[in-house]
Amino acid sequence: MTIKQDKFFPDGNGLAELKGKILFNKPLENLSWLKVGGPAECLYIPYNLEDLSHFLSYLSPKININVFGRLSNVLIRDGGLSGVTILMPPNFLPINILKGGQISAGAGILDKDLSYQAMCAELGGLEFLSSIPGSIGGAVAMNAGCYGKEIKDIILEGKFIDRKGKISILTKKEIGFLYRGTKLSEGKILIEAIFQGKPSKKEKIRSLIEKINSDRETSQPKGYATGGSTFKNPTEKKAWELIKEAGLQGKKIGGAEVSKKHCNFLINNGEATAKDFEDLGNTIIEEVFSCSGITLEWEIRIVGQHLDR
Ligand SMILES: Cc1cc2nc3c(=O)[nH]c(=O)nc-3n(C[C@H](O)[C@H](O)[C@H](O)COP(=O)(O)OP(=O)(O)OC[C@H]3O[C@@H](n4cnc5c(N)ncnc54)[C@H](O)[C@@H]3O)c2cc1C
Repeated sequence: MTIKQDKFFPDGNGLAELKGKILFNKPLENLSWLKVGGPAECLYIPYNLEDLSHFLSYLSPKININVFGRLSNVLIRDGGLSGVTILMPPNFLPINILKGGQISAGAGILDKDLSYQAMCAELGGLEFLSSIPGSIGGAVAMNAGCYGKEIKDIILEGKFIDRKGKISILTKKEIGFLYRGTKLSEGKILIEAIFQGKPSKKEKIRSLIEKINSDRETSQPKGYATGGSTFKNPTEKKAWELIKEAGLQGKKIGGAEVSKKHCNFLINNGEATAKDFEDLGNTIIEEVFSCSGITLEWEIRIVGQHLDR
């Protein structure tokens, strides 16, 4: 891939001031949970909010932006991502314990770290986050949830920056949470969110966290690259049940395989390409439909270009 820096930053003078990392043609495969996918044409890891804001002001308005956290819910196609890929790092903005049981967290903070800090502050309600491998940005964008709780149950508001560097605060209602998504318009980057915790005893929180994590150990595949739940649960039935009933447990395409332990998880046997995962997912959708009449919808977000052959 030939990359011209001028295409991204027509007036590159200010770039030297940036403290974040800018890398061209950067492989993303090893950063993604599925361990597949092509490179980012331009990867930017902001140092802090000021740095991100400067970066956005230097970036050509013609360049498209993708924003991610831990890449635990995305299937990056083998041809990679054009434009700028922003990865929000854990140290972008910290966790702060506020008054009245509220707790704020920067977009790059890991869900499990927020859950742990809430426990230390004797604030319950965030235990479920301890077992989700993403960041706060990804959790808000996905309305992530498990064990009966979702982000929408604990969030008060989110702070966003847009393409023009304008910062806005949106309430839970304005974010418009949906099942594994939001009504947010494209181009809004979450920078920080405020959550409401409930006073609780540290030991009670710790034992709930331990229970959630041990339940996961027994029900989900371990030791494989995976993207977690591949499909959203339809209202009629759980996605894993539909996949199992269609006889797809253990089905393989290339190096991608339907986990025998949890049929809604696709695993990488070490050799998979993004195309293997996409083909396997699409085959599941077809076969589940012909077996049950129900159309599964991807929960994993598929991004990027196919590889030119
Ligand atoms: C083993 C495993 C178990 C999982 N278990 C669960 C589970 O129990 N429940 C659940 O809900 N999910 C689960 N997931 C999926 C995933 O961890 C969550 O969706 C998580 O919230 C994604 O966070 P992330 O930082 O990795 O987001 P990414 O995968 O990096 O991005 C996901 C989406 O969020 C958007 N996004 C990310 N950051 C920002 C930001 N700062 N501003 C705006 N948009 C942003 C991206 O554009 C993308 O559309 C699991 C995944 C794995 C691998």
